[in-house]
Amino acid sequence: MDLNTITAVERPTSRAALPAWRDGDAFLAGGTWLFSEPQDKLTRLIDLATLGWTPLRATDAGLEIAATCTIAQLDGFAAPPSWTAAPLIGQCCRAFLASFKIWNVATVGGNIVMSLPAGPMISLASALDGELEIWAPDGGERRMRVADFVTGDHRNALKAGEIVRAIHLPQAALMRRTAFRQISLQTHGRSGALVIGTRDQGGGFALTVTAGTPKPYQFRFAALLSADELTAHIDSTINGDWFDDIHGLPAWRRAMTLHFAREILAELGGDAR
Ligand SMILES: Cc1cc2nc3c(=O)[nH]c(=O)nc-3n(C[C@H](O)[C@H](O)[C@H](O)COP(=O)(O)OP(=O)(O)OC[C@H]3O[C@@H](n4cnc5c(N)ncnc54)[C@H](O)[C@@H]3O)c2cc1C
Repeated sequence: MDLNTITAVERPTSRAALPAWRDGDAFLAGGTWLFSEPQDKLTRLIDLATLGWTPLRATDAGLEIAATCTIAQLDGFAAPPSWTAAPLIGQCCRAFLASFKIWNVATVGGNIVMSLPAGPMISLASALDGELEIWAPDGGERRMRVADFVTGDHRNALKAGEIVRAIHLPQAALMRRTAFRQISLQTHGRSGALVIGTRDQGGGFALTVTAGTPKPYQFRFAALLSADELTAHIDSTINGDWFDDIHGLPAWRRAMTLHFAREILAELGGDAR
């Protein structure tokens, strides 16, 4: 839709050319959410696309995903064979149940900053120990784990004027075995529960719960445990903090999450009884 309160659009081509942040500003990434509803408080957009960041860079340290990388670009990434966790990338891109128009413009950074419970890039980056590189308006930078960044439905730790520059997935996490489960109430609906398990070469097991809860919950264990121990631990930690909206009732989200946790434990070598 037209945003008829916008009076200026800035298109910086370098960090030095970013305008000083002021009330009424918003960073524009893919625009799939910004242009999907009225934004009465906004008067200026600062387009991040013109900064020209390389979408994906694979190095010995892992994978650097520019915040402006689109879902389609990420889905097309050809990972080195040793990155056993790579199938998770496509699985999470497909959990974004959107049309090709959304896929081709929505960005990874925009999805994380939106901080919706059903944000599949939050699920992916949290499960693979992703860290955000954040640019502060004073020229500084900070890093933060994605799993800690999202604090609730549409809430996160970004401060006014800060830009998410990139998401860093460490190589060690990309070399884990993974198991993925996701469900939506409708074929093309938002995720109601999305659970990812990972197992490292030392036997360590981690489970990341998203979509069923307003923010990511992550559980780490030095070794596999019994299914009853795992589900009891998840249930007591989440302690009723199940998300409730039109895409699923809390009781259903809880049941699916605990069921998926058992399945994932079995898939990664545990006893699912
Ligand atoms: C049909 C449809 C289906 C959708 N399905 C889903 C879904 O399944 N799951 C889901 O999570 N969302 C969904 N969305 C919401 C939204 O499209 C996505 O979250 C998308 O990934 C947002 O990315 P974007 O690049 O388009 O962000 P934009 O719309 O450009 O921006 C979103 C917000 O993030 C801020 N922002 C963006 N990038 C940065 C950055 N690098 N640094 C700082 N701030 C930034 C913007 O200022 C704005 O406030 C859907 C939307 C539509 C219209």
